[in-house]
Amino acid sequence: MSTYDVIIVGAAPAGSVAALVLARAGHRVALIDRAAFPRVKVCGNCINPAAWQIWNRLGLRAAFESLPHQELTGFTLHSEGRQIFEQTFRPPHRGPRAVARDLLDDWLRREAQGAGAKFLPETTVTGLDSQTGMVQTSRGDFSARLVLGADGRNSQVARQTGLMPPPRRCHRIAWQASVPAPTDLDDHVHMHLFEEGYFGICRYNSAEAVISMVLDSRRTQDPLALVRRVFPRLEEQSWLRMNPITRAPARIGTNRVWLIGDAARVVEPFTGEGITFALSTGILAAETACEGLARNNFVSAFNLYAREHRRLYRRRAWVNTLMRWALTTPAWPVRLLRRMKPSPVLVSFLSHRVHATG
Ligand SMILES: Cc1cc2nc3c(=O)[nH]c(=O)nc-3n(C[C@H](O)[C@H](O)[C@H](O)COP(=O)(O)OP(=O)(O)OC[C@H]3O[C@@H](n4cnc5c(N)ncnc54)[C@H](O)[C@@H]3O)c2cc1C
Repeated sequence: MSTYDVIIVGAAPAGSVAALVLARAGHRVALIDRAAFPRVKVCGNCINPAAWQIWNRLGLRAAFESLPHQELTGFTLHSEGRQIFEQTFRPPHRGPRAVARDLLDDWLRREAQGAGAKFLPETTVTGLDSQTGMVQTSRGDFSARLVLGADGRNSQVARQTGLMPPPRRCHRIAWQASVPAPTDLDDHVHMHLFEEGYFGICRYNSAEAVISMVLDSRRTQDPLALVRRVFPRLEEQSWLRMNPITRAPARIGTNRVWLIGDAARVVEPFTGEGITFALSTGILAAETACEGLARNNFVSAFNLYAREHRRLYRRRAWVNTLMRWALTTPAWPVRLLRRMKPSPVLVSFLSHRVHATG
């Protein structure tokens, strides 16, 4: 059986940056993912400008800049097809950058591999013993001194270790499709609100756009019908689907199993901050884990990780709570918007808080 210092389950942003930091620090790291890379993922492809600090800190800025992308220079909000707000991000504010998730995630896992992490694709984690650090997978058993669960919102690691909260019924379903970019689509992030839910559309290169959507399944299960209210000529697409969208935060770990990224906590997709939270928690966990590995004692390292993790989310909690409150039952905000114009000052403030940095 192969033994590692750290096994990381999930080679998306949270898992790959954690693997990168730990491997650079000289630890033996296995990065496991059930998928073959590159792989697509339900996402709006928008990388919040707060990520620039992270690329700088990891020395990855030049490599990130070289990925095919679309710079997004503004935010436009529509309610039932009617434009109600538009804002351009002017210096010193900078908007998000859109990068296809298959390219972004594949790049990050290659950076982790380049730093010395062992990447095990097409390997599904099926069981975990949090006392011994034994990980069972579709390709055999592995063991580690510490396991990081970076396996997303339906985290198997959280389930296997009893960290996942009891399931709550979530009627909201996420959908995603890549489409040929409509000719009249500019370089803004466009958010469209409807009584049934919302969708965002943006270019992620000169030819393609991504549509990511959250629908209330009790009202409709037909993402194409909703998009065609705005883009009537859009052809039939193949849609990826994902749920739950809203989930209570998990307990973020035990001494030898820690959760990072969406596995620990999900944020409202509308805010486009999930990737930066995943990156930040991956780095935080890896740096804290280095202390635990050096002392061969994970108790105080885990407490530190748990404290800093709470602090990280607390700073943005009000934005997410507000968005979730407004969007979980989008019918009433949309009815409200039908009658009154939103305050440009308020929407501009929120849009800068969520999508831009200065
Ligand atoms: C509709 C929608 C739109 C969004 N748009 C944006 C956006 O524009 N910008 C943004 O920043 N965020 C967005 N998000 C959120 C963002 O996608 C997530 O926050 C982010 O992907 C979390 O990254 P992660 O590394 O935690 O895990 P994930 O990206 O969820 O990846 C988990 C990985 O674990 C692997 N895995 C899962 N189970 C196992 C297992 N048992 N064994 C082995 N491997 C396993 C999976 O294959 C996957 O590679 C959106 C989310 C939704 C639903």
